[in-house]
Amino acid sequence: MTRYVFITGGVVSSLGKGLASAALAAVLQARGYRVRMRKLDPYLNVDPGTMSPTQHGEVFVTDDGAETDLDLGHYERFTGVPASRADNITTGRIYQDIIAKERRGDYLGATIQVIPHVTNAIKDFVLDGNDTFDFVLVEIGGTVGDIEGLPFFEAIRQLGQELPRGTCCYVHLTLLPYIPSAGELKTKPTQHSVKELRSIGIQPDILLCRCDRSIPVEERRKLALFCNVRETAVIEALDVASIYEVPLSYRKAGLDREVLGHFGLEHGEEPDLGRWTTISDRVRNPEGEVSIAIVGKYTGLKDAYKSLTEALIHGGISHRVKVNLEWIEAEVFEREDPAPFLEGLNGILVPGGFGQRGAEGKIRAARYAREKRIPYLGICFGMQMAVIEAARSLAGVPDANSTEFGETSEPVVGLLTEWLRGNELERRAAVGDLGGTMRLGAYDAQLDPDSKIAQIYGSDRISERHRHRYEVNMAYRERLEATGLRFSGLSPDGLLPETVEHVGHPWFIGVQFHPELKSRPFEPHPLFKGFVGAAIEQSRLV
Ligand code: GLN
Repeated sequence: MTRYVFITGGVVSSLGKGLASAALAAVLQARGYRVRMRKLDPYLNVDPGTMSPTQHGEVFVTDDGAETDLDLGHYERFTGVPASRADNITTGRIYQDIIAKERRGDYLGATIQVIPHVTNAIKDFVLDGNDTFDFVLVEIGGTVGDIEGLPFFEAIRQLGQELPRGTCCYVHLTLLPYIPSAGELKTKPTQHSVKELRSIGIQPDILLCRCDRSIPVEERRKLALFCNVRETAVIEALDVASIYEVPLSYRKAGLDREVLGHFGLEHGEEPDLGRWTTISDRVRNPEGEVSIAIVGKYTGLKDAYKSLTEALIHGGISHRVKVNLEWIEAEVFEREDPAPFLEGLNGILVPGGFGQRGAEGKIRAARYAREKRIPYLGICFGMQMAVIEAARSLAGVPDANSTEFGETSEPVVGLLTEWLRGNELERRAAVGDLGGTMRLGAYDAQLDPDSKIAQIYGSDRISERHRHRYEVNMAYRERLEATGLRFSGLSPDGLLPETVEHVGHPWFIGVQFHPELKSRPFEPHPLFKGFVGAAIEQSRLV
């Protein structure tokens, strides 16, 4: 029988609902249950693909090519289960489908309404394809009280009545702020949040309370009494040093016991959280450290590079080192010499990005890494900029540029107009929709067996996730390879460059895909493991 856990949030946003959901999933998984995770996003965009990363954070791409919320990245990293298009939905997509049906005449005669049409569509999404799972964890984006969230809350309320008795659990994540002048953790915001939830018909079963210190017995009683939950169902979610301690911390606080208890399931035995203990130990007790520069353009919001940050931490975990991140706005290098910023750092990473702003700064960063023989990892845009750098500095193409920035006489990076997806030919024109039209999702790449990157992967055939509209132009391959920039990986049909490396450089790799999306704490991605390893080597030289 499939059981549903609905996770809602209150009081303030950014409490880490996604992380909380993922950590709960990890603990349930450690008890041997099969867990699926899904996210409902109340905003009107069809997906987050067209949203600014500085507002919404990273766009997480799934194997099947969906552009989804970054919380799906947490889900994958904590459960090891690859997310798919079917795990994330937005109000925009729901309305898009309903309106398309209405236009086709599928509802002929009916007036289309939020209840039941929108709520039915939400319920259909939540219930679809769950037969093989013991638990489905459904996270609702936003906070209770948001106008656009109402249909989602209404849909999960209805499910509580429609699904078999005892198969739904409502977990509400709130904040208990500590007020120094009163010397107390305050329960009132949580009480108000629960009141709001109850006013729309949902009685939470479990309160997960974010706090920076333990909840005293008195406050716990008060919360239980005023929010109408059991005292044991007031679970403290203490701040922890690393996100990978959250599953252990929840276990200790009894979240899994409470969830299983709610469903009448046995919870006497301890779950096997061995791998989380190992990871936490490694994060807590590093045996060394390295410093890596991230030269990007969305450095103001760290969530814009969520998977990347985590992948670097995973690389550090595999070598038992702490990875210090130096965030550098690429534009700075357009005004100033990069040397003072980059000297003494052990690696330079230029991540994915869009648009001209900061591009020249990234090119200078790539040049610095190449000339000073510092490990360099260029991801997607970071690969494209490294290739432009090589074309300009080494291959005698001073005007090398990307058509992403406008017309150019030397389109070393150009618009991707057609490519193969399986056996299907995908075509794109310069004018067309921006949403959902990039080369998206998992594609295979064939690596030269004797290349450095094949050695790093331990394989010459890989599959990685993509999200790009432009591509390095094969017409420049020969000239670039003559300078030592090897096109070490190509799409299986040999038409698209997928990876490059500077031969003779200690570690200089560019990849057209996003390896960070597939890295996991207990399975660090080979490229991040390799990059951090190279940074450690470099740190021994300085
Ligand atoms: N803007 C570049 C492109 O569309 C790179 C995209 C990225 O870094 N994800 O090809």
